[in-house]
Amino acid sequence: MALIVQKYGGTSVGSIERIQNVARRIAKFKQQGNDVVVVVSAMSGETNRLLALAEAIQTQPNPRELDVVLSTGEQVTIGLLCMALQEIGVPAKSYTGWQIPISTDKVHAKARIEDVNDAKLKQDLKEGKVIVVAGFQGVDENGDITTLGRGGSDTSAVALAAKLKADECQIYTDVDGVYTTDPRVVPEAKRLNKITFEEMLELASLGSKVLQIRSVEFAGKYHVRLRVLSSLKDECEGTLITFEEDENMEHVVVSGIAFDKNQARVNVKGVPDRPGIAYNILGSIADANIEVDMIIQNVGENDTTDFSFTVPRNDYQNALKVLNAEQDKIHAKTIDGDDTVVKVSVVGLGMRSHSGVASQIFKTLADENINIQMISTSEIKVSVLIDEKYLELATRALHEVFQLDK
Ligand code: ASP
Ligand code: MG
Repeated sequence: MALIVQKYGGTSVGSIERIQNVARRIAKFKQQGNDVVVVVSAMSGETNRLLALAEAIQTQPNPRELDVVLSTGEQVTIGLLCMALQEIGVPAKSYTGWQIPISTDKVHAKARIEDVNDAKLKQDLKEGKVIVVAGFQGVDENGDITTLGRGGSDTSAVALAAKLKADECQIYTDVDGVYTTDPRVVPEAKRLNKITFEEMLELASLGSKVLQIRSVEFAGKYHVRLRVLSSLKDECEGTLITFEEDENMEHVVVSGIAFDKNQARVNVKGVPDRPGIAYNILGSIADANIEVDMIIQNVGENDTTDFSFTVPRNDYQNALKVLNAEQDKIHAKTIDGDDTVVKVSVVGLGMRSHSGVASQIFKTLADENINIQMISTSEIKVSVLIDEKYLELATRALHEVFQLDK
């Protein structure tokens, strides 16, 4: 007998019919002799609807009260799913985050889970019940309701799986797994049966929106066996996120290609080349709470240097404003940039032991006449910044060169 944590996303519980469908799926696992703990999201569209209600009253909703409002979406689904389970003869009991409790820090709208109390859960499991927990929410030390950030139900599920030492944490969503790249861009994209945790982390942080990045980090930290699969399709094993490379994986150099459209490049040119300049530029950006991703500093000429970095696109104007305001510290000749750029990343554990991947990427882009503006690398990833108009061309060409369609 295994203990399985299953998480169903908003689309999977998006209607009464789908909730009943999920109930039948859970019943099947239960009948096979498994213990099942379920985590659900709000019905699709619900969290956005609640957010819009709040914003109709306060343009910047009070964080404590916003979490009170947003957490209700999941509360509806847990109750409905338990009713659906009971209707087909499966004993089930629902819990909100604070009833468990799932303790978090006090940071509203992006709280981090600190602990899960498993006392009630263990008792219910012993009594043969299916437990249905509201995802995306917890409670802080003051007893205030917190939420975990958009997509946070994935993290709730992984946290429960970690605490209960579940045999597997299954994330049911509207896609049937992790793909070599976005199938909407490259129709030949293939579902991966397995991907290593490290690769998934790179793909998730690079804009493949299958899993909330935090849930992947959490799973890595607590060694939770994680699987992504579709709630709309039967008989599909989905994608298993593994910790070990197996023999098959060794042959694969590149596992996937991710892209991130949320990028803008900032150029700070002709700054005096002396100690502290990176700190002056990036320090003021950090103080404005803007995240910096890729960074390039050129070798200086005439005692000046050029500095470029990327920021999220919606922070672009603000970044320029911040730098212009700091001109007396920075002394740049020009401050400008471009917010029509994208980052394309090639990810694969096999890059560790295969040289030449980077040059193959550069050759592929050169053959397509695509100019590379910035490059960054890690042990298992090469990212390039290019003009957004080449996003599809670049992704397709790289997908083909690394034979991801095979
Ligand atoms: N309902 C929340 C959201 O829409 C959390 C989740 O679905 O994971 O972001
Ligand atoms: Mg989601």
